[in-house]
Amino acid sequence: MRKFMSKFVSGMNLMVLALLAVTMTAAAQQPATAPQNPQPVAATQPAQSQSGQAPANLAPPTTMDQVVDRVILREKELIKFLSPRTPVVETYLQNLTQDPQLGPIPQDDHYFLGRMDLSESIDRSDYLDGKGKDTKNDSMEKHLLGEFTKKFKFQYQPLGFSWMIFADRNDFDRGHYDFHYVRREFLGDVRCLVFDLTPKKDAGRGRFLGRIWVEDQDFNIVRLNGTYARPQRNNYYFHMDAWRLNLVPGYWVPSYIYSEEGDFTAGHINKIAFKAQTRMWGYNLKTGPANDELTNIRVDSVKDDTPSAQDATPLAAEREWQQQAEDNVVERLQRAGLLAPEGDVDKILQTVVNNLEITNNIELPRPVRTRVLTTSPLETFSVGNTIVVSRGLIDVLPDEGSLAMVLSHELAHIVLGHNLGSQYAFNDRMLFSDEVTYQNLGFKHIPEEETAADKKAIEMLKASPYAQKLDSAGLFIKALQARAPQLSALLQAHLGNNIAENGTVTRLAQLATSAPALDWNKLDQIAALPLGGRVKLNPWDDKVEIVKSQPVAITSARDKMPFEVTPFYPRLTRYSAASAAAATTAAAAAPATTTTATTADASTTPSN
Ligand SMILES: [Zn+2]
Repeated sequence: MRKFMSKFVSGMNLMVLALLAVTMTAAAQQPATAPQNPQPVAATQPAQSQSGQAPANLAPPTTMDQVVDRVILREKELIKFLSPRTPVVETYLQNLTQDPQLGPIPQDDHYFLGRMDLSESIDRSDYLDGKGKDTKNDSMEKHLLGEFTKKFKFQYQPLGFSWMIFADRNDFDRGHYDFHYVRREFLGDVRCLVFDLTPKKDAGRGRFLGRIWVEDQDFNIVRLNGTYARPQRNNYYFHMDAWRLNLVPGYWVPSYIYSEEGDFTAGHINKIAFKAQTRMWGYNLKTGPANDELTNIRVDSVKDDTPSAQDATPLAAEREWQQQAEDNVVERLQRAGLLAPEGDVDKILQTVVNNLEITNNIELPRPVRTRVLTTSPLETFSVGNTIVVSRGLIDVLPDEGSLAMVLSHELAHIVLGHNLGSQYAFNDRMLFSDEVTYQNLGFKHIPEEETAADKKAIEMLKASPYAQKLDSAGLFIKALQARAPQLSALLQAHLGNNIAENGTVTRLAQLATSAPALDWNKLDQIAALPLGGRVKLNPWDDKVEIVKSQPVAITSARDKMPFEVTPFYPRLTRYSAASAAAATTAAAAAPATTTTATTADASTTPSN
């Protein structure tokens, strides 16, 4: 914080001060009106450099009208900048019902995952198909609406929760909108100018209506909050709160969108009530074949360093084969945006695995590795000696004991030699498009192996440092059981075995029998956390890190929100190459020897 402030003050040059003076005098009461003859704004401004840097050659705006022109220009530049990209888009939605004690709680849920094509017309294609798919409806539009389609017809486009990635894809200009300056406001570390936007009378349907926050150096939109105006009869637009992050120089990249509808006040009859989180990532994923790979080959460094001068023995060959399959799968999942690159979260998971291995005298021919699946549904699987845990599952685990429980099941598969995936040693099996990853890869064990892995896992846990912490693991299973019938989408595994089947938790369910009673009213009993509180996914490069927010005290049972989605409140900061490099270095250098890193105080939940 202190470090940031000094940087901020030193960066606050005269241009910004001049602008702020204008802001304070001229703008507070007077809306920035459109000129009589709206100019084609983009055409009157110099083109932006290809480097992706903010246009430094533009004179700083001196009137609020000029600020608005700059906002419009920057939005058009962002649309252009992102047009060749196809980020992963994930929406997780919980329909709500009113619980007298806990307030609105999930009634059922829906999950959508796809790649969004941000070129001329925004479109998206689905990752989910067949069993993993939300099969209640078959069009994307119906997917996004779930059961609501019976009551509401959506007119805008089958983009639903992703609409607010831009304010207005085609007509974000003075001809269609009035910009009313509101005030200045900090969002995190970033000082913003706040504008209310209203579509002009004749601007047509489906225009953005709401508020935008614009950072005060380059005038990029960093947050949009509102809805779309003038739906046709029987149509409906969601309310959305969309956040962008400064992940590349000069651009703020759409990252999170929160949607919420429903009124639980007395007397109100709910037609719809839901909350939904939409996350975008994988902006920097390669599209199509990697043509630039040849330039990266370092032939001189490739050397066979196997100690033996002989051919592999049959067993050694088998292990090589499995290693090859494992490497293929890990590489392919990462290329599809489904696996985070190696990072410091892996080191934390690795530490827990090591603790289990050491105390159980487990020695494996190859070290066990851990990786994070970038998606929300709660799932784990292993391929060869790599254990994969989903971001959503790490999010909701209350402590290290429950993390050890999750990892012990997959470690047990490895110890018992339940190796899966050797068919992926054939490289032709990696040649498929990202959207069909779930149809082409799968790591489900037969029921007998699941039972054996659970048994072995409990043995290992009882002999480990986590033996004293199994109450919390058992409580987690109880909490999951309490919510499982309502959360079938969150509990639908896409690559591994389901943790729950038909609303009943099956994975390590035995641990629940010895756990204390689940009591939502006991404020110091935190059995499971909300989604999104632990793992932060970088939408540009897919790296994951552990959130270091200060825990917020729980004051009522309604604060617990186990497995629930909540609004987003990212702490906005400006991109800095120095801090980006420092973060990378720190991640690489962090010795991750402390097993307490994942053990947030179990009496509090992390804030979003
Ligand atoms: Zn299993």
